[in-house]
Amino acid sequence: MKGFLKIAGILGLAGGLLYLERRWPLRVEKESKSRRTARNLAVATLGVLTIHLVESPVLYPLAKKVENKRWGLVKRLHLPRVIKTLVALALLDYTLYLQHVLHHRIPLLLRFHAVHHVDLDLDASTALRFHFGEIALSVPYRIAQILLIGVDPGSLITWQSFLLLSVMFHHSNLQLSKPIEDRLVRVIVTPRMHGIHHSNEPENQNSNWSGGLTIWDALHGTLNLGVPQGEIDIGVQGFHRPEQVTLPKIVTQPFRNEPAVREFLEGE
Ligand SMILES: [Zn+2]
Repeated sequence: MKGFLKIAGILGLAGGLLYLERRWPLRVEKESKSRRTARNLAVATLGVLTIHLVESPVLYPLAKKVENKRWGLVKRLHLPRVIKTLVALALLDYTLYLQHVLHHRIPLLLRFHAVHHVDLDLDASTALRFHFGEIALSVPYRIAQILLIGVDPGSLITWQSFLLLSVMFHHSNLQLSKPIEDRLVRVIVTPRMHGIHHSNEPENQNSNWSGGLTIWDALHGTLNLGVPQGEIDIGVQGFHRPEQVTLPKIVTQPFRNEPAVREFLEGE
């Protein structure tokens, strides 16, 4: 029942964002919205299954153990519980930034992460389009995050909920008023900021790695807000045609060695 409510909540949120994106679109879309949404939800279904079968059975018992044994950095801090939770959430967000960099730097990880990037448009459905292999390969990294930071089950659930809200918001094709977005982006990742990361220009792809707070890009000098959305071609070089990114093609893409995939991996 809990899982059902969670999925209903995600679909409700995605539906709301899809409606707002249609009313106030940020970028002109290349592919049919309904076809892309159906394809991205199919990839997301495989991802949700992987989370239920591979990720959650490992992460939640581990977080419980971390709490009982008082393992990890945060548990050593002599601070009020609420501050410790905030520190854990900030460290989870920072280490997610580092993981995103690794997903673009390590060819095996990029092979899977590229499935997210070859979407020819960017909207709330792209936020759910992560290859099941990327989710499975992320489990050892999540284990390390939980153990080293000292993440208890409550902090883990809070972080996962915030992250889902954040990725759906910043992947969306929602046009916010520029002055409002300029203020928001000082704190959190926004649609225009993340749109630059999804540009097919390698220079832009190698910027704006943050997943929640903008500060990590600002601290590492990788913040890039200087590209107008009208100049951005969403996607990956070598993948321009809809027939290159059909559902069977993207699900099998990490396991194929076709020239476009090779070129992208070598170009990074
Ligand atoms: Zn990326």
